[in-house]
Amino acid sequence: MGRLVRSPDITIVGAGAIGAACAWQLAQAGLDVTMIGDASAPAASSVAAGMLAPVTEAEFGEEALLKLNLVSSELYPGFIEELNDAAGVDLGYRRCGTLMVARDSDDNRVLEQIHAFQRRLGLAAQRLSGRAARELEPVLAPRTRGAILVEDDHQIDPSAFVDALRRAAVAAGVEERVGHVVEVGRGFVRLEDGTTLSSGKVVVAAGSYTGTIRGIAEMVPVRPVKGQLVHLRARRGALLPTRNIRGLDVYVVTRADGRVVVGASVEEQGFDVTRTAGAVHDLLREAYAILPGITELEFVGVTAGLRPATPDNAPVIGEIAPDVIVATGHYRNGILLTPITARAVAALVDGRSDEVVASFGAQRFATEGVAG
Ligand SMILES: Cc1cc2nc3c(=O)[nH]c(=O)nc-3n(C[C@H](O)[C@H](O)[C@H](O)COP(=O)(O)OP(=O)(O)OC[C@H]3O[C@@H](n4cnc5c(N)ncnc54)[C@H](O)[C@@H]3O)c2cc1C
Repeated sequence: MGRLVRSPDITIVGAGAIGAACAWQLAQAGLDVTMIGDASAPAASSVAAGMLAPVTEAEFGEEALLKLNLVSSELYPGFIEELNDAAGVDLGYRRCGTLMVARDSDDNRVLEQIHAFQRRLGLAAQRLSGRAARELEPVLAPRTRGAILVEDDHQIDPSAFVDALRRAAVAAGVEERVGHVVEVGRGFVRLEDGTTLSSGKVVVAAGSYTGTIRGIAEMVPVRPVKGQLVHLRARRGALLPTRNIRGLDVYVVTRADGRVVVGASVEEQGFDVTRTAGAVHDLLREAYAILPGITELEFVGVTAGLRPATPDNAPVIGEIAPDVIVATGHYRNGILLTPITARAVAALVDGRSDEVVASFGAQRFATEGVAG
C-alpha cells in the first residue's frame, strides 16, 4: 500500500505576525493549514517596537494606507481579546496614547503642519503647549516647545504577540514546519532541498524575503529596509513616560514592566542586519534631546530587523495568480496591520474580496506595455 501523503487545504509561507495570524484565522475557519517558517530568515515581527499608531504614523500622500491602518486599529481590542483567550499569555497590550513632541521651535513648526494635516483628515489629535505636555509627562525635557496628543494610539509587545499567534495557530490545528521555500506556484511550494508540497491554495507571507521566492518575485516588488532599536531598562520605581513619545526622528516606547525601546533607524542596506555603533549613537542622541532621563537607564542591547517595503510603502494583499495569495509589504506597520490582513486573507481564501483591501493588490505595480 502506498504512503498516504497529507495535502493540506492551505500552505502558508512565513511564520511572522502576518503568516501566523493568517494561519490561526484559517484554521479557526475549519481549514487544514500548514505554516512554513525559515530559521535563516528571522522574522521582523519579533524585532518591532510594537507601536500601534495609525494617527502619528500618518504621512503626507499615504491617505489610503492611513484608512487601512485605522480599520486595523479598530479591530485590535477584539483581536487581542480572542488571542488572549486562545494563547493565555500577557501580550503587553496597552491603550496608552502617543505624545509627539517638539524639542525646539523648528520642530514645533513641523508639528504645526502635521497637526493641520491630521485635522484636515478628521483625526483625533490635540495640540498642546510645551508646558501642558510636561504636565502630562514630567520626564520630558524642560525646553519642550509643544506637542500633539493622540489618545487613541496603543502598543503591544511584538515578540509576545508573535509567539502567541504561533501558539494559537498550533492549538487550532495548524502544522508548523521549518524549511526554505524557493518557489511557489499554483497549488505547490518547492523547498530548497527539492521537496515539493502540494495544497489547495498557497498564501505567501514571507515579509522582506517575499521578493526572493521564484514565482512571486516577478510580481511583488518587496525590498528590505533595515531598522535598529536600542533596548533599555528602568529600575523599579523610576519615573518613565506613560505614553509612546515621538520626536521627529525618534520614538520611545515604554512597556509596563519598565522595558524601554528607542527606535528606529531606517536604512537601505539590503539584507544586512549588522548592529552598528552609529545607529545607537544617533538614536540615543535624539532620544536624550526629548527625554534627558534616559541616560539613567540600564543599556540592555540593540536589535535589528528588516521591514518589508514596497514602492508606495503600502502592503500587497491579494490573489496574484489562481490559488496564490500574497500578504506582504507591511513596512512600518505590520504589527498594526495584522488583524485586518488576517481578515482579508481569510476572505480571499474563501473566494471573496474584502473591500477594505481592494486597492492593495499587486496589480498596482504592473508595468504597462509600451507600444511601438
Ligand atoms: C525596527 C523595526 C521596528 C518596527 N516597529 C513597528 C511598530 O512599532 N509597529 C508596527 O506595526 N510595525 C513595526 N515594524 C514593522 C513590522 O515589524 C513588519 O511590518 C512586520 O513584522 C512584517 O511581518 P511579516 O509577518 O510580514 O514578516 P516577518 O515578521 O519578517 O516574517 C516573515 C516570515 O517569513 C519566513 N520566511 C521568509 N522567507 C522564507 C522562505 N523562503 N521560506 C520559508 N519561510 C520564509 C520567515 O522565517 C518569517 O517567519 C517594525 C519593523 C522594524 C524592523
